[in-house]
Formats: sequence, structure tokens, C-alpha cells
Amino acid sequence: MTPPTPAFRGNKAALPSKPCVACGRPMSWRRRWARTWDEVKFCSDACRRARAARG
Ligand SMILES: [Zn+2]
Repeated sequence: MTPPTPAFRGNKAALPSKPCVACGRPMSWRRRWARTWDEVKFCSDACRRARAARG
């Protein structure tokens, strides 16, 4: 019996997360952010607009 790959054993806790700079809520990694994770600062468009509105 082969052990499962250590890279992905269903451990969601291994996914990165960081706080939204607008509301401070922790946002967990999403597939759609796979390529832009370093640039992601807001958890939602609403937060992005709230922040952008102030300039
Ligand atoms: Zn937010």
C-alpha cells in the first residue's frame, strides 16, 4: 500500500492565508488567486472599492 503524496493530503490548514487590508478579515487562498496571491490585498470587490474610493 502506497502512502498518499505528502504535498496534498487534504490538509486545508496548509493553504496560505492573510488579512484583507480593508476589513482585516482573514482570507484563505483561493484557486483564482493562484497566480496573483502576492498582489491580492482585498477579500472582495466591495473592500477594493471601499479602499479605492479614498484614493
Ligand atoms: Zn475585506
